[in-house]
Amino acid sequence: MDLKEYIASIEGFPKEGIIFRDVTGLLANADAFRYACDQLADFARRLQADVIVAPESRGFLFGAPVACQLGIGFVPVRKPGKLPRKTISCSYDLEYGSNVLEMHVDSILPGQRVVIIDDLLATGGTVEASVKMIRELKGEPVGCAFIIELEDLHGREVLSDLEVLSLLTYE
Ligand code: IMP
Repeated sequence: MDLKEYIASIEGFPKEGIIFRDVTGLLANADAFRYACDQLADFARRLQADVIVAPESRGFLFGAPVACQLGIGFVPVRKPGKLPRKTISCSYDLEYGSNVLEMHVDSILPGQRVVIIDDLLATGGTVEASVKMIRELKGEPVGCAFIIELEDLHGREVLSDLEVLSLLTYE
């Protein structure tokens, strides 16, 4: 199946100079959504994941069904102030400014093999921050999987010690 048919590219969103890759068309097509989740689940199964971690918010759309399909747990990575219990946090630099992400301190058990799932890999900052928190909680990040990889942003290079799967690539 050619998943690219279901991805819309929107020039100038959310601001000038950016081409936004939109996965909502893929989500809306039952066969494409199922096919994409199956690919991500095969990857996580092969890596013997104990738990799926996914960043807010589009990561949830793929991470949660994959965890459910594999019969393993799902752990959200969220923006500050959204998780109700004790959290750890990690900040990372953006082109202008910085971002902070949080996880519950008890969300990963020591030694758990973790696969991270998100809709899109750009610079890798989001997943790198997630990896740092998982390691701080003594989990073992083993791989990360994406629907889309923006190759020109070289996110793969900052994730070089993990297995990386992307179903589609754009320059
Ligand atoms: P990174 O941290 O630079 O790798 O950016 C990846 C994050 O930004 C992911 O959580 C994506 O959901 C989001 N993102 C960046 N660009 C796009 C896009 O074109 N479409 C959808 N999500 C995007």
